[in-house]
Amino acid sequence: MKLSIDDFCIRCQLCETLYPDLFRLDVENDVIMTKVADVPENLMDDAKNAIKDCAVTAIRFTK
Ligand code: SF4
Repeated sequence: MKLSIDDFCIRCQLCETLYPDLFRLDVENDVIMTKVADVPENLMDDAKNAIKDCAVTAIRFTK
């Protein structure tokens, strides 16, 4: 399972702050990036919580 971030992300950086193993800010391009190609089992709960925590629901699972 992969994570994707939609373009309407407002770059609040909450996901990066709470789940630094999963997200990072690409400062040069001013976009939030995922740090893992596939979410490992040990980060699956964090990924689910990140999806819930994002205020604009910009994070979702993709195959
Ligand atoms: S929490 Fe949501 S809106 Fe905020 S930076 Fe992460 S993906 Fe973007």
